[in-house]
Amino acid sequence: MNDSISLPGQTWPTLEPGWVWLCGAGPGDPGLLTLHALNALRQADVVIYDALVQEAILDWAPQAKHEYAGKRGGKPSAKQRDISLRLVELARQGKRVLRLKGGDPFVFGRGGEEAQSLVQHNIPIRIIPGISAGIGGLAYAGIPVTHRDVNQSVTFVTGHDQSGNATGSLDWPAISRGSQVIVIYMGMKHIARITSELLDAGRNPSEPVAVVTSATTSEQRVLETTLATCVDDITASGLEPPAIICVGRSVLMRQVLDWQTMLDGTAPRALDPLGRGRPAESA
Ligand code: SAH
Repeated sequence: MNDSISLPGQTWPTLEPGWVWLCGAGPGDPGLLTLHALNALRQADVVIYDALVQEAILDWAPQAKHEYAGKRGGKPSAKQRDISLRLVELARQGKRVLRLKGGDPFVFGRGGEEAQSLVQHNIPIRIIPGISAGIGGLAYAGIPVTHRDVNQSVTFVTGHDQSGNATGSLDWPAISRGSQVIVIYMGMKHIARITSELLDAGRNPSEPVAVVTSATTSEQRVLETTLATCVDDITASGLEPPAIICVGRSVLMRQVLDWQTMLDGTAPRALDPLGRGRPAESA
């Protein structure tokens, strides 16, 4: 098959033999793929995909061989080298290679490392961004990652450092002071350490926290809690990764913007959860 997509008004790039396209698959819902991702899926000979890529997305590349290259939380990074070398090997065999990664390939996804390795091996590449879970996943939970009454900045952090341990290299006091909203990737394993860092740095124990697991998929679950209670609440909930954890008052917006619950006609829990009283039309 290996056909590029056809839509009016645009010429879609051709995935040539010997090339690797490094592509984001979005957070889960196949509808959140970009058109460039779809164009890539339609042309690839081989799709090398991660654990967080939904199987349904692979069905859109029936002509391609599907190779799993998943790594999940805390596994050694040695395997990363094997993945990079496999991409080089396939490209040198003249395959049209699609490297498909969850979310955006350049957000906590080692996409930069893979791209760098390909360039170093003189393999031509194209980068296709995707919707990152820390933005799109929160949107599916009704949480705007920025909201004018809440935050003028947002900080994305990873709960693991390179060795897979709790992230000691982050300046938590600076993050706590400087960012009204903190979005944490890979935070479940070390949530106790992360919350105590934030509390030690002066964040309010009653500050809202949301934990969104398997965001945008049919398995999506959302826990609303606070900094003081989130460790116990997460344990009691039985929630499992993958999870995006959002700390900040934007979580309150879920009371009015939890659109998935409202799809069945359920009324919002509040219309003005920040209590600002500003009419929507003046926003
Ligand atoms: N490149 C990805 C992130 C890879 S790191 C992106 O841009 O989204 C893997 C982490 O991403 C997970 O541990 C989790 O914190 C988050 N994540 C990815 N997909 C997710 C999903 N569907 N729901 C919740 N968290 C998700």
